[in-house]
Amino acid sequence: MKNVANKVVLITGASSGIGEATARLLAQQGAIVVLGARRTERLESIVHDIQQAGGRAAYREVDVADAEQVKAFVSFAKDTFGHVDVIFNNAGIMPLSPMNALKTDEWNNIIDINIKGVLHGIAAVLPVMEQQGHGQIINTASTGAHAVGSSCAVYCASKYAVWAISEGLRQECNNIRVTVLSPGVTTTELGHDITDEAAAGLVQQLRTMSLEAESVANAVLYAISQPNDVEASEIVIRSASSFGHAF
Ligand code: NAD
Repeated sequence: MKNVANKVVLITGASSGIGEATARLLAQQGAIVVLGARRTERLESIVHDIQQAGGRAAYREVDVADAEQVKAFVSFAKDTFGHVDVIFNNAGIMPLSPMNALKTDEWNNIIDINIKGVLHGIAAVLPVMEQQGHGQIINTASTGAHAVGSSCAVYCASKYAVWAISEGLRQECNNIRVTVLSPGVTTTELGHDITDEAAAGLVQQLRTMSLEAESVANAVLYAISQPNDVEASEIVIRSASSFGHAF
């Protein structure tokens, strides 16, 4: 795939789901992938698989809610491989619940990880990419950045924020490409942390019309592989069986 080989691509939330599938796919295409997440035993095993298949990969523990850890993740990649071509700010959580359940700790976690986590990724790479004179920032929003559902208010708010941050950043960036990726419902571990029974049931129902993580990874590959003068600024991808649904 053109414009992918030898690029250093940082991926947060790479220990499962969309992040893991993207790391595996990009490595197959010749990119050097740097995986970040909190579950290092999983990262170690994915990196091992990639290397066994002849790919190039490294990992580092990172909690995206902690700006200093994200900075250290980016520095690790730059020190190890010399440059940073792409960051895929993908880590996220989705503990859905109705507002009147007052799960305020979960609201705060969503804000810290889904919104601040993306901001931390942007803050860590911008000076590096500005100095290089090139780079690409890909942020995972959601179809929940385009529509709101009951029990999804805070999660959707976080994804509307990711969409707005990405669009604002895109307008400000000259030599740095910005992509906001909005997947529809995808079969991953997302939502495993839902503590509200009805919301968990809702997610189970939505998963009957689900994309595979590999299909979302293909969209990331598409965005990276575009010629340097082309910015895939927004990608929305849904399961073809999601007709009649917003997500
Ligand atoms: P997932 O749960 O399999 O992956 C999420 C990843 O983020 C995991 O590796 C998890 O460990 C990591 N993560 C969570 N909190 C973190 C933190 N504080 N620091 C570092 N890593 C952290 O789910 P997924 O579906 O692959 O989710 C990836 C992204 O896609 C998320 O931003 C999610 O909101 C978004 N998304 C998912 C769907 C879906 O239906 N699965 C739809 C639209 C958007």
